[in-house]
Amino acid sequence: MRAADIPNDLTSVLVTEEQINEKLAELALRVEEDYSGKKLLLVGVLKGAVMVMADFARHLTRDIAMDWMAVSSYGSSTKSSGVVQIRKDLDTDLGGWHVLIVEDIIDSGLTLSWLLDNFASRGAESIEVLALLRKPEAAKVEIDCKYLGFDIPNEFVIGYGLDYAERYRNLRDVAILAPHVYA
Ligand code: 5GP
Ligand code: MG
Ligand code: MG
Repeated sequence: MRAADIPNDLTSVLVTEEQINEKLAELALRVEEDYSGKKLLLVGVLKGAVMVMADFARHLTRDIAMDWMAVSSYGSSTKSSGVVQIRKDLDTDLGGWHVLIVEDIIDSGLTLSWLLDNFASRGAESIEVLALLRKPEAAKVEIDCKYLGFDIPNEFVIGYGLDYAERYRNLRDVAILAPHVYA
C-alpha cells in the first residue's frame, strides 16, 4: 500500500518508494565497486530489514550470499533498551566472508553496536553496515555506517519493513505514524 491508502494513520511521508529505490540503486553501485573480487555476505536483521534486503540485493549485478539474524531488544514498542537477545542466529560461519549488515534504521544505535561486538569475534574478513534510515538526534552510541540511505528527524516512523505492533510493514513509503494510533 501507499501512504495515500491510510491517510488518517500518518502525519507525513518522509521518504517515498521512488526515493528509496533510487538510493538503493546508488548504494548498490558503491557496494559493487568496494567489494569487487571479494566474497560478500549480506546479513539482514529481521524483521525490519526484509524490504531493504530484498530490494537492495536485487539491485546488485553480482552473486552474493544472504543470511538473517533475529534479535529482540527489550523495551517499549517504540524505544529500544540496548539489552539484546538473539532469537535466531546466523546459519553461516563468518570465516572468509566480507560481511555487510543490512538494517532498516539506526535509532539509538544500541542494537547495531551490540551486533557489531557480537560479530567481531566470529572471524569475518570485514564487517560494514548498510542502513536505510538513521536518526542522528537519537544516537546514544556512534555507529560507523558506511552505506546510509537517509537521515531523518527523531520521530517514530513506519513503512518499508518498519512496523508498529507488526502493522504497516507493507507500506511502500516511510512515514511518521500519527500519535493517536499509539496513544
Ligand atoms: P536502536 O537500537 O538503534 O535504537 O533501534 C533498534 C531497532 O528499533 C531498529 O532496528 C528498529 O527495528 C526499531 N526502531 C527504531 N526506531 C524506529 C522507528 O522509528 N520506527 C520503527 N517502526 N522501528 C524503529
Ligand atoms: Mg532493525
Ligand atoms: Mg519493530
